[in-house]
Amino acid sequence: MNIREEYDNYFLGTYNQFGFVPDYGVGSRLYDKNGFEVIDFAAGIAVNSLGVAHPKLITALETQAKKVWHLSNSLVNEPEVHLAKKLVELTCFDKIFLCNSGTEAVESALKLARRYARINFGPQKNKVVAFYNSFHGRTLFAVSTGGQKKYSEDFAPLPSGIVHGHFNDVNGLDALIDDDTAIVITEPVQAEGGVVPATQEFMQKLREKCDQHNAVLAFDEVQTGVGRTGKLYAYEHYGVEPDIIATAKGLGGGFPIGAILVKDKLKDGFGVGSHGTTFGGNPLASSVANAVLDIVATKEVLEGVEKRHKLFVDGLREINTKLNVYSDIRGVGLLIGAELNDQYKGLARELIGCGLNRGVWVLNASLNVTRIVPSLIIPEADIAEGLKRFQLALEDFISTKK
Ligand SMILES: *Cc1c(COP(=O)(O)O)cnc(C)c1O
Repeated sequence: MNIREEYDNYFLGTYNQFGFVPDYGVGSRLYDKNGFEVIDFAAGIAVNSLGVAHPKLITALETQAKKVWHLSNSLVNEPEVHLAKKLVELTCFDKIFLCNSGTEAVESALKLARRYARINFGPQKNKVVAFYNSFHGRTLFAVSTGGQKKYSEDFAPLPSGIVHGHFNDVNGLDALIDDDTAIVITEPVQAEGGVVPATQEFMQKLREKCDQHNAVLAFDEVQTGVGRTGKLYAYEHYGVEPDIIATAKGLGGGFPIGAILVKDKLKDGFGVGSHGTTFGGNPLASSVANAVLDIVATKEVLEGVEKRHKLFVDGLREINTKLNVYSDIRGVGLLIGAELNDQYKGLARELIGCGLNRGVWVLNASLNVTRIVPSLIIPEADIAEGLKRFQLALEDFISTKK
């Protein structure tokens, strides 16, 4: 029985996976049942922030697993309170709400801002401002807010009151944000959209316009958060404090969890009964997230991200000097993008397959960009070996295109 083929017999066809079926992993190396080894530059799409099978995360999970798995939000549990306190102390935010995924965090941010605006300013203040090419998840409100029509249009009718502007278009913001704007949401680095960082000027102007019109400013840090960019959260790079951040992916190091962190002024935005989620604050998830933050929110790990950034970017540039596949290599911390040049436009996904054949797992971001988002603590030897394999993959790729 081939498990990859069996999968298609039972699942809805939403994903189109590759053939490699990992059985287990150690750090940044994954193995299938035949012992085939793949170096992991993908980390389960920026999720396994400390690699696979980190001993401290295993201990956190096992310890809690022997106590209680779930309680619901009728009762408080200790791990969720520790987690909330930690997140508040480590950031500029004052209150949190826990949920289970990135899209649920974004959904919570949008709903909170709408309700806050309605209660404090009236029902006309409901406009959501977002940006083309952004990605905010797949629930209907979040996917409609995201800036890629191809993900939302087939699910119409979509929620109303959402408008899109051009990312990094500073001058466009004057026409976009007005007194009816409830919330402006952006990724600090458009990740799925091709690894495009926001400019300093854009972020500052967003803050100014939101202040001017009493609009909530939210950063979707689902991918950029929890050390991914070399700061605990990417807003720190800009010195611009949003009113809300959405966080998920790396927060649980592979265990599903999401959250919004909000400023004090939004603390009464929901109130009892207006929002909730069964698994939010789950003690297993909270225990693991506590362990993740204890490790990631250290100088050692965050500075290590910067160091690894340089190893990846220098390595990719060196390969590209020989092979001339990419027109641009960019990114922040360990969120790195390499844009294919015109000759190979549209083929970023094909390259993933070439990589897996050679024993290295990379991702794409849009059709034209190779994305690298490894564990924040990937060993330097794995970076070197993975890049060596990636060069072979690129050579295979080029030879099939000749
Ligand atoms: C992945 C991602 C999401 C969606 O997260 P899910 O956990 O898949 O719901 C939202 N926003 C950004 C920026 C993301 O990268």
